Amino acid sequence: MGDLTKDFSRKEFRCRCGRKDCDAAPIDMKLVTALQALRDLIGVPIIINSAVRCVRHNRRVGGVRNSRHLEGIAADIYCPKLSPKEFAKFAAMIPEFDKGGIGLYDWGIHVDVRGRRARWDYRGR
Ligand SMILES: [Zn+2]
Ligand SMILES: [Zn+2]
Repeated sequence: MGDLTKDFSRKEFRCRCGRKDCDAAPIDMKLVTALQALRDLIGVPIIINSAVRCVRHNRRVGGVRNSRHLEGIAADIYCPKLSPKEFAKFAAMIPEFDKGGIGLYDWGIHVDVRGRRARWDYRGR
């Protein structure tokens, strides 16, 4: 039960730095809406590892300097029922992700709504 969409809540997207004065960007609803569409498509829960990040937290988790997570338009997600490859295939069926970023990792996938197509496969690193 979510307070943003049917299945997603604001707290799932929050920066995980734990600072009271965290200055992370707000979450972009385009991302949340696309994730809900993906959730509806696969029919099973999606777990959000990391969504919005402030600069400090992004640095700590080793994110790239211009990370889309800083803009509130990216999420690192996984689905216990799907391999990263299967999950990415479903993500590509959602228009906002198809024309955005989809990255494969051993732990799951990165998706973002940058409005420009980007693909990468970092499995096995
Ligand atoms: Zn933060
Ligand atoms: Zn990411």
